[in-house]
Amino acid sequence: MGKIIILDENTANKIAAGEVIEKPASVVKELVENSLDAGADNISIDIRNGGISYIKITDNGSGIDEDDVEIAFERHATSKIRTAEDLASISSMGFRGEALASIAAVSSIQLVTRVKAKPHGIMAEIKGGSVLNVMPAGCPVGTAITIRDLFYNTPARFKFLKKDSTEAGSITEIISRIALGNPHVSFKLTCNGAVVLHTPGNSDQLSAVFSIYGKETAKESYQVSYEDNRIKISGLVGKPEIARSNRNYQSVFINRRFVKSKVIASAVDEAFTTFLMKNKYAFFILNIELNPVLIDVNVHPSKMEVKFSNELDIFRAVYHAVGNALMTQSEIRTVLTGSPKENLFRMNEKKQEKIEYRQQGLSFSKTAGGSGEFPIIRESIQKSEKYMETEKHNETVEYTTGPGNKNVEEKQDRRLLADARIIGQAFSTYIILQQDDELVLIDQHAAHERIMYEELKKSRESRIPTSQMLLSAIVLELTNQEIKFLEEHAGFFGSIGYSYDSFGVNSILLRSVPFKEHDGDIKGIFLDVLDYVMNTGRIDRNFNIDETLYTIACKSAVKANRKLDETEIRSLAQCLSEMDNPYTCPHGRPSAIRFKKSDLEKMFKRIV
Ligand code: ADP
Ligand code: MG
Repeated sequence: MGKIIILDENTANKIAAGEVIEKPASVVKELVENSLDAGADNISIDIRNGGISYIKITDNGSGIDEDDVEIAFERHATSKIRTAEDLASISSMGFRGEALASIAAVSSIQLVTRVKAKPHGIMAEIKGGSVLNVMPAGCPVGTAITIRDLFYNTPARFKFLKKDSTEAGSITEIISRIALGNPHVSFKLTCNGAVVLHTPGNSDQLSAVFSIYGKETAKESYQVSYEDNRIKISGLVGKPEIARSNRNYQSVFINRRFVKSKVIASAVDEAFTTFLMKNKYAFFILNIELNPVLIDVNVHPSKMEVKFSNELDIFRAVYHAVGNALMTQSEIRTVLTGSPKENLFRMNEKKQEKIEYRQQGLSFSKTAGGSGEFPIIRESIQKSEKYMETEKHNETVEYTTGPGNKNVEEKQDRRLLADARIIGQAFSTYIILQQDDELVLIDQHAAHERIMYEELKKSRESRIPTSQMLLSAIVLELTNQEIKFLEEHAGFFGSIGYSYDSFGVNSILLRSVPFKEHDGDIKGIFLDVLDYVMNTGRIDRNFNIDETLYTIACKSAVKANRKLDETEIRSLAQCLSEMDNPYTCPHGRPSAIRFKKSDLEKMFKRIV
C-alpha cells in the first residue's frame, strides 16, 4: 500500500509558519507591513513579554471587507497580486498571502476591522488556524489585530524563543527600521505599557532619525541626494565622528522596503575610505528608488536580502551619492564638550541591554548640497570593478546630483585653514591656528600625509608621474627574487614615480623617487613599498594601488615631534586647504580639530 498522503491544511500551515514566522519580531514585521500596504499613516504596536504572550497592532488603513475576513487567513490568500505577471511590478510589502495563515496556525488571533464604506466593522476570532467566531462590531475604520500565546501549539518553536527582553529588542529594531523607511507614517511602540518609540509621521526622515537615534545623530548627518536615469537615492550619512564599530546603524530601503545588501554596504564603505578609520562603520540611511523590474523581490521575506539585476550600476550610484555628500559637506571636526542628551531609544536600551543603539554628538551643519564630478569619482569605476570583479562594464552611467556648489560652511573651513593666524606649534606636533572665535589644531603628520597622498594620486593619474631625480643614486642590495620582481614590474613602479637600474648581480640603483621633498628615509620607504606590493602577489586590475600610495605618503610625511618654522606651517596649512578632502588623513584620522571659543568658555565655566 502506498505511504504518501497530502497533508491537511492545518498541518501544512503549521509547517509554513515555521518558515515565515521565526519569532515575535517576524510576526510584528508582517503585520506592520500589512498595515502599510493598507495605506495606514498611523500604526501603533503594543507588546507584552517580548511579544510572546501579546502583540496588538492597530492601524488606520483601509480595513478588510466583511467578505474577505475569513479568506484572509487562508494560505496564498492575497489582495495584492492576481497572477505571476504582477510580481514583476510589485510595489506592496506583501504579496505571498502567507503571513496571516501562518500566524493564525500558531496562535490565537482577534481581528477587528472596518472599511470606510461600511457603517460597522467585523470582529473575528481564530485559534490554531480555525475560525471560531465572526460577528459585527462597532469600531473605527482600519484594523486592529491581537495575537496571543504565540507558538502555543508548536512547543519545539516555543523552546527556541529567547528572553523576553531579547525578543522585545528585535521588535524594537524592526519597528525602528520600518519607521525610518516610512517617515510619512507615525509609529508608536509600547512594551509592557511603556512607550519605547514614537515617530511623528510628518514625512521628514530627519525627524524620524531624531525620534529613534536622538537629536545629536540627526544633527551629525549629511544629506544625500542623487539621481540618474535609473535610480534615485536620498537619505542621510553620519559624519565620521558618529561612526560605530558595527553595522547596526546602517539602513537601506529599496522602494521603502528595509533590505540588507552587501553591495550597498560595500559602496558606502568605499565612499568613506580615507574618511573613516579601519573597523569603523558609517551611520547611514539610504532610500533607494528604482524600477521594481530591476530587483528580484522573490527572495524569502524573513531574510530581507535583495538581488539586483545590475549590481555594478547600484554600486556606482551609491558610491557617487555618498561620496558626493561627503566631499561637499565635510568640515573640520569640532571638539566634543558636554554629554549628549538621552533619548527614548537609549532609555529603552538600559532596560534591554541587548539593543545596541546609542548616539553621540558634536556640532550641527544642516546644509544640503552637491556638486557634479569630484576627483574621487575618477577612481570609482576602478574601485567598483575591483569590488565586483566583473568583466569590464561598457555602459556609461550619467549622474546628476544636487545643486552645483560646495557647501558654504565647508568653503569657510578651507579659507580658515589657508588664512588663519598662526599661533604656533605645540609639542612639535600640532599646529595651532586662530580665526575669529575658533581655534584649530592641525596634526602635522596627518595633514602632510593627506597632502602627500593626494599629490601622489594625482601624479599617478596624470600618467606623467612627477618624480624627483636623486642627486646621487642609491644602491640597494636585494634578493634575486626581488630584483626579478622589480624588473618585471618596472612599468608599475614607474607609474608611481620610481625609476631604477640593475647594478651588479644582487643590487639595483635607485635613481628617482615619487616625492619632492621628504622627511623619511628613501631606502626604507622603497623597501616598504616593495614588500607591500610583493606580498599582495600580483599587480593587475584588482590590485589596491591606494594602499601603496598610503604607504609612501605615511612614510614620507613630516613626522610628529618635528619643529616647523612659520613658513613651513603656512605652506602646510595652505596646501591642506586645497585638498579634495582636507579633514582626514588617508586612514581616516582627523587632520584638524576645531575648538570654538564658546567651548573653551564652557570648559572654564565662564558660561554654562
Ligand atoms: P499578503 O500581505 O502577502 O497579501 P497576508 O497573509 O499578510 O498576505 O494578508 C492577507 C490579506 O489580508 C492581504 O492581502 C490584505 O488584503 C489583507 N490584510 C491583512 N492585514 C491587513 C490590514 N492591516 N489592513 C487591511 N487589509 C489587510
Ligand atoms: Mg502580508
